Amino acid sequence: MSQLIDSFGRKIEYLRLSVTDRCDLRCFYCIPKGFKGFTEPEDRISLDDYVRLVRLFSELGVSKVRMTGGEPLIRPDLPDMVRKIGALPKIDDLSLSTNATRLAQHAKVLRESGVSRVNVSLDTLNPDVFREITQGDLEPVLQGLQVAKTAGFRPIKINMVVMRDLNLHEVGDMVDYCLENRFTLRFIETMPVGEAGQKAKDRYVSLDEIKKSLEQRFEMEPAKMKGAGPAKYLKIIGQRLKIGFITPMSQHFCETCNRVRLSSEGTLYLCLGQSDKLELRPLIQQGLSDDEIKSAILEAIQNKPEKHEFNSNPSQVVRVMSMTGG
Ligand code: SAM
Repeated sequence: MSQLIDSFGRKIEYLRLSVTDRCDLRCFYCIPKGFKGFTEPEDRISLDDYVRLVRLFSELGVSKVRMTGGEPLIRPDLPDMVRKIGALPKIDDLSLSTNATRLAQHAKVLRESGVSRVNVSLDTLNPDVFREITQGDLEPVLQGLQVAKTAGFRPIKINMVVMRDLNLHEVGDMVDYCLENRFTLRFIETMPVGEAGQKAKDRYVSLDEIKKSLEQRFEMEPAKMKGAGPAKYLKIIGQRLKIGFITPMSQHFCETCNRVRLSSEGTLYLCLGQSDKLELRPLIQQGLSDDEIKSAILEAIQNKPEKHEFNSNPSQVVRVMSMTGG
């Protein structure tokens, strides 16, 4: 077998790269307060080795790559990485997840280097609430989004983690903001990933609640979206806005999971919510050939877990989200 098909018959076509586990924000549900366990530069694999691994995945059937983290834009060699991954013949979709704090400076270069789509995390339009959630400033993020719009990314998706007694009341404002700016809006349920994710459990809101409240305000119909992934989309009738619902908790989508994740240290994580992994760095250091590394990847894919256990085992602390690549 030369393609990535796991033991449940799922075809793996999508690789998410946690290009760094570090971030310039501190969302309380993502990175634990005072966290010190970030990887050191000497633990990372080189850019060329990282690109080599992506190429091997692409030769095994991966065609979609997303750079995430941590915050990808704090990695100084990101434009180089984008150019090199974008030049791989079998990668036809290269995208980025960012908090947009530095997007204004980087948007143009990234667009020119081959990133076609960006997802931006934005949980609130209120600077005080933004600071409470992230410990950072909202203004550069809003500026970054405006620059991204002019740089020509299509679509620009806003990811909003909805949380009770924090930003739930802003759902309507976010809809208006996305309508005005022609962004796509996606709501996400909090997941108990890592120690920080556990802390957010009491803020959890089932997205069914949001959907019902939006249906009272708008007439909506099911919509299709390119690269929709696990999100289910609705469209406001008569408007351009599409709204996605990502429901890992209330309606998991593990049976259609088509992705694995690769950290900056060369660790292949087979599931966001489980510990199963393969360390690829030692294989590179031992000088294994492309075919030998591909065989190791193919074997590891057979161990991809059937599903996460966020509901049945919510206290299971896996890793810090930024290490796996949210
Ligand atoms: N820094 C980039 C960004 O902000 O998009 C990429 C990494 S960030 C970890 C990716 C996404 O994971 C963000 O949309 C963030 O809100 C989400 N996320 C992090 N921890 C989460 C949690 N416990 N539950 C749900 N979503 C989470």
